[in-house]
Amino acid sequence: MIPVISKLPQTGTTIFTTMSALAAEHGAINLSQGFPDYSCAPELIDLVNKAMLDGHNQYAPMAGLMALREQIAIKTEKLYGAVYNPDTEITVTAGATQAIFTAISAVIHPNDEVIMFEPAYDCYAPAIKLMGGVVKSLELEPPDYRIPWEMVKRLITNKTRMIILNSPHNPTGTILTRHDIDELIALVKNQDILILSDEVYEHLVFDGQEHHSMARYPELQSRSLIVSSFGKTFHATGWKMGYCVAPAHLMQEFRKIHQFLVFSVNTPIQYAIAQYLKDENNYLSLPDFFQQKRDHFRRGLEQTRFKLLPCAGTYFQSVTYEDITDEKDVDFAIRLTKDIGVAAIPVSVFYRKGTDKHVLRFCFAKEQETLDKAVERLLKV
Ligand code: PMP
Ligand code: GLN
Repeated sequence: MIPVISKLPQTGTTIFTTMSALAAEHGAINLSQGFPDYSCAPELIDLVNKAMLDGHNQYAPMAGLMALREQIAIKTEKLYGAVYNPDTEITVTAGATQAIFTAISAVIHPNDEVIMFEPAYDCYAPAIKLMGGVVKSLELEPPDYRIPWEMVKRLITNKTRMIILNSPHNPTGTILTRHDIDELIALVKNQDILILSDEVYEHLVFDGQEHHSMARYPELQSRSLIVSSFGKTFHATGWKMGYCVAPAHLMQEFRKIHQFLVFSVNTPIQYAIAQYLKDENNYLSLPDFFQQKRDHFRRGLEQTRFKLLPCAGTYFQSVTYEDITDEKDVDFAIRLTKDIGVAAIPVSVFYRKGTDKHVLRFCFAKEQETLDKAVERLLKV
């Protein structure tokens, strides 16, 4: 065997794969990995079908179908007031994951420092490390997981190249507030710091609150690569379709990587989504749709011995379980899957140090019946 020096020696298989496999093995209700258990809109499937039958089965343009980029520009301007040029400032990607990897590879050089907040979605740190960058992370504290901006300030050095933000936040369900935005604007002023803003849950904000996209604030927009996901927005995570918007000088570098990583992404699905986006109700209806699920699931969980954490956005509900056991969250999540028949994500895996605050994350993008069955089982804990 030819020896290979691992580029990510500490990395194993992701928790999403691990927990979904364990759930399948034990026939557990899978509230771990974040994906719906119901179908996306039949109209959308018809549109993909039509695009295929119409012969749109060859390579799309490298940056994405122009019709889709135009719709993304219209949506972004309508929602956040920012004007992006579809020609030079928008690229369609194979999900947000590819957009995040591409953005990090495009701008992070060896020894550049990247500030991020933990718990953090799992694909940020490996991408930074692969580019030779240095992860500077701050651990946030439940129940509110607020960003301590004074401490962020202290992390900044002349090597800080990027801050990664994720609002609405996976796994905690928190959202950035106007106060956070003001702090961020003050923090980056006169600094050469870019922002990678993971906004895949941009349409999943509840209780009438607004999503503070980086695109809303010119001081932030001008330094931001903003990433979103049609998988999340249109209940079709398996389609792996997303996009990045950024000012032209950043997008130019982004595309240099994108063109060699994937060149272009799924053509018929781009045709379909371009058409589907024309009806804004297809995304503006999402907060109500998911808020109902959140409220229903929370009412159920309130009857159990789990303690609910706040959930202002995303389709994840986190809970603490101090009153139940002092087991490690990973052990408890495995036991819940095997013995109770409900799979969750242990939140310690979103901390590089494995910090265990005894928090589990449940995905509520599920049929009401699924959520009810899960609660019924959790009542036995
Ligand atoms: N960022 C966050 C915060 C996520 O939860 C996910 C999972 N959808 C992604 C990025 C990746 O999105 P995609 O499935 O479109 O690659
Ligand atoms: N974003 C999804 C989650 O947080 C999982 C995506 C994946 O499986 N990589 O559950």
